[in-house]
Amino acid sequence: MSNSVFARHALLPQGWQANVRLHWDDAGELTQVENNAQLLADDAVETYVLPGMTNLHSHAFQRAMAGMTEIAGEGPDSFWTWRDLMYRFALAITPEQIQAIAAQLYSECLRYGYTSVCEFHYLHRAPDGQFYANRAEMAERVIAAATDVGIGISMLPVLYSFADFNDQALRHDQRRFSTNVDDILGLISDLEKHRSAQVEVGVAPHSLRAANVTQIQELVRALPSNRPIHIHIAEQMREVEASLAATGKRPVELLLDTQQVDQRWCLVHATHLTSQEVQGIAKAGAVAGICTTTEGNLGDGFFELPEFIEAGGVFGIGSDSHVSQSAVEEIRWLEYGQRLRSQKRNVASVKGQRHVADFLWNACLLGGAQASGRLVGRLQQGARADFLVLDDQHPNLCDVAPQFLLSSFIFSGNDNLMRDVYVAGRRVVHQQKHVSQERITQSFKQCMTELRSLS
Ligand SMILES: [Zn+2]
Repeated sequence: MSNSVFARHALLPQGWQANVRLHWDDAGELTQVENNAQLLADDAVETYVLPGMTNLHSHAFQRAMAGMTEIAGEGPDSFWTWRDLMYRFALAITPEQIQAIAAQLYSECLRYGYTSVCEFHYLHRAPDGQFYANRAEMAERVIAAATDVGIGISMLPVLYSFADFNDQALRHDQRRFSTNVDDILGLISDLEKHRSAQVEVGVAPHSLRAANVTQIQELVRALPSNRPIHIHIAEQMREVEASLAATGKRPVELLLDTQQVDQRWCLVHATHLTSQEVQGIAKAGAVAGICTTTEGNLGDGFFELPEFIEAGGVFGIGSDSHVSQSAVEEIRWLEYGQRLRSQKRNVASVKGQRHVADFLWNACLLGGAQASGRLVGRLQQGARADFLVLDDQHPNLCDVAPQFLLSSFIFSGNDNLMRDVYVAGRRVVHQQKHVSQERITQSFKQCMTELRSLS
């Protein structure tokens, strides 16, 4: 296969351009983006080409639980009751199973528009609470799954030391997550050999509940430069109230006051914010990682999107617990949540970009790329050759002018409009099917037969 494609329309950083030829090298890096190119006889021609999205927040093993927690209990159900089942799963999953689950999940992410993923990985230890003989066993299984299916990955080993604020000891059912700063630095160094243009290794203090401010300072100080740093923050009101009770500060306020938060940081959820916190995150240049489908599923609340956009904040999307693996659904509900909340339409837009779908797709490309710490999200020289080819024969896209294309793509219907997906210049999805789908799905089904008995 030749290392180039001719796009009749391609979404470049400056917007939709006609007649674009993309060239990449054997390592999967874009070497040239030709504008106003002449069509040549041997060109591989596509109609609509756009950059693939980064899924900036994933807990791969939770893919196995999707659909199992939708039954009401005796009392009110909440994030915290959901977490109990999640822990039962977390305690059971073997290295072989996490690899099978992650491979299935990542193949689905690719088919629905994500070409890279940030894996917030906290399942480190064996079910008995001891590290495996190879300390990085579980993380390496997840990286192996990503490499197998061909998605780019930023592996973020999670620091998880406490059950709650005030350094409360971990519960027995949290034993597989247990790590201190030295464990995490050791894991990062174990994973160093996997780093490549397709694999980055950063870090993730789980939350201000599970890691204290001194640990986070120590960890960040020892981290190699320019690595992504992700943290869950202010997802639930209970967490905000616990933070206030323990420290006198709200979680985001506490983070901004005690850490040098900058562009390396991704604040996942950041749901319950004061105006001051909105301004603080935007000013720091950190990414807000919004996971609307999971936040909706868990009843978390709404992100302060209009105010954050107004403040010039950077944001991206993640599928988190994987009740959905679709970049389109994530973006659609990011906007719909705000419409329902404000009783207004076309919320996410700015002067100069009134097309909501274009504004959101482009903003999430940039925010996701920043959160991943990798050269993705833009079709330009030096970036990864990660792109989606839309189905130009589908009735929703047929003969649509480029300025309305993303509107139809995001806000119309339920068919999957991504026909082919390329990562690092390699076609990993063809005609809406992953190139290794049968093998991947067979392993996943077998794994689910084993796991369903736990629910
Ligand atoms: Zn999460």
